[in-house]
Amino acid sequence: MKRIGIPRGLYYYKYYPFAKIFLTELGAEVVLSPETNKEILDIGSKYCIDDACLPVKVYHGHVYFLKDKVDYVLIPRFTSISAKEYICPKFGGLPEMVRYSIPMNSPIIDIEINLYKNKFNLYKSLFSLGNMLGANPIQIKKAINKAFKTHYVYKKDLLNGNLPAVLIENKKPVKIKTKSIVGIVSHPYLLYDSFINMNLLKKLSGRCIKYITPEMIDSQIIDNLCNELEKRIFWSSSKELIGSALYMMNINRIEGILLLTSFACGIDSLSLELIIRIANKIYNKPIMMLTLDEHTGEANFNTRLEAFMDLVERRQNLDNNLSPYGRGIYCSERNIR
Ligand code: SF4
Repeated sequence: MKRIGIPRGLYYYKYYPFAKIFLTELGAEVVLSPETNKEILDIGSKYCIDDACLPVKVYHGHVYFLKDKVDYVLIPRFTSISAKEYICPKFGGLPEMVRYSIPMNSPIIDIEINLYKNKFNLYKSLFSLGNMLGANPIQIKKAINKAFKTHYVYKKDLLNGNLPAVLIENKKPVKIKTKSIVGIVSHPYLLYDSFINMNLLKKLSGRCIKYITPEMIDSQIIDNLCNELEKRIFWSSSKELIGSALYMMNINRIEGILLLTSFACGIDSLSLELIIRIANKIYNKPIMMLTLDEHTGEANFNTRLEAFMDLVERRQNLDNNLSPYGRGIYCSERNIR
């Protein structure tokens, strides 16, 4: 039985259930790296190139953990995850970045995921992986069908706001008596990695603040809202962030929006700027940007988050009389306007 390592980072948060079912159906054993911790972050930062974003550095740390403990490490080359759209180029270069940064004996499986034109390329890649594992075409087709079914259930769970076990592993889901609801606009690998985001979701829940994330918004709604923009957005993650923010701005019960980003994220430098410009014109509730990097001191992060939560609560208690220009707390660790 082949042991295949899956690093718990980046698109693990989108596609792990698919990958796990596909591989186990074909007789492989899946080995997952542990939840992100300080050691993984430090190793990742050591081996990754300096100017990469935080999630890519953390991903390197996860690969380092798996290296030499498994027969292969699965690092797909994501080029496109939606028709006529691309994703962040760092995903496309990830197998090479890892290969040339981390000395390792376990070979990398770098199948390409490219849905830009059609699904043919995806099937081709899955069949080549299945062949590599010694499966025949009928077994591979069965595994693909089962993996897709699991993927749709996973997406539906997210849409309904039930964070599936894969995202809340080792943590009990908390039932909270909701006082307010806020939107969080971010990539899943920042949102659901509680080490990277310094327990953001738990901190919100601790103040009885419920949250809505991009995964909880129907992709058709996101598409429709983005179609109303002057220019077509051709980056999938940008579209997800901007469409989600537009949706959140239009929902009355959402009392404020948090933009959670990573230092050195090229995609967010454009997407979040556009969100802020739109918010300046049409949104009169608190909105704040928090930038994460590899520094693990929580004090600054907590101060800003608490300021945001105070503002949301006070505006609610005082019938929204307070100025949202606590929005002056557009802020980040490095950049306070
Ligand atoms: S979208 Fe941003 S955070 Fe995500 S991998 Fe690309 S640069 Fe990094």
